[in-house]
Amino acid sequence: MAKKNPRPRGPQLELAGDLAVAFVNTARARKKNWQLGFTTYPELVAWAQQAEALPAMEAEILHQEASARPEDAQFVVEQAIEVRTALAELLDAMLRQQPLPADPLARFNQSLTEGLPAARMVPGSTGLTWGWGGDPRALERVLWPTLLASANFMATPQPPELRRCALPICGLLFVLQPGTHKRQWCESKVCGNRAKALRYYRRKGRKMRERKTWNIGLYYNRRPRDQQKL
Ligand SMILES: [Zn+2]
Repeated sequence: MAKKNPRPRGPQLELAGDLAVAFVNTARARKKNWQLGFTTYPELVAWAQQAEALPAMEAEILHQEASARPEDAQFVVEQAIEVRTALAELLDAMLRQQPLPADPLARFNQSLTEGLPAARMVPGSTGLTWGWGGDPRALERVLWPTLLASANFMATPQPPELRRCALPICGLLFVLQPGTHKRQWCESKVCGNRAKALRYYRRKGRKMRERKTWNIGLYYNRRPRDQQKL
């Protein structure tokens, strides 16, 4: 059977299962791992490229523009962090099946509507796809595809199953893919192994505590009766 999406997908997107979720996960970026974060505009562009949310040619233009306007570029990063926080709150409410909070929704819509006038349908490899018109040097466009994908994700009538990694110190989000309903961790090779190691050390610690108590008991029993204070 032919693959639905023959393009190679970035590992962070593959593991998160959706661009909206991958974007929210950047708040908990891990070093030396698949998960990239961003604190600068070039890092934000690099993330969008890796997440397939920005073509290389557009990224190049934005890099040049950011070099010429560093303060404007950093302002876009601050906006990105704000809208990511809003999106994280919305996804958290979806995850908990609670009513969507109004303020984060308004903040998300504010950024979404900035990019929407530039949205276009353009020919893609498998028919029509979303593309972007407007000024190619607009620094905000780095976020537009991610915001549109996030809106589509939240507007899905039957939202895909959103999960949070079962390892509490991780907390990354991911979307369950069909046939993976038993998946507990964002990445089994990382958090799955850490969870197993934690379980092992907890068990080992308990056994050592039990053994210590038993040894102390043995020690007291072996001491001459007159030295025992018990
Ligand atoms: Zn995890």
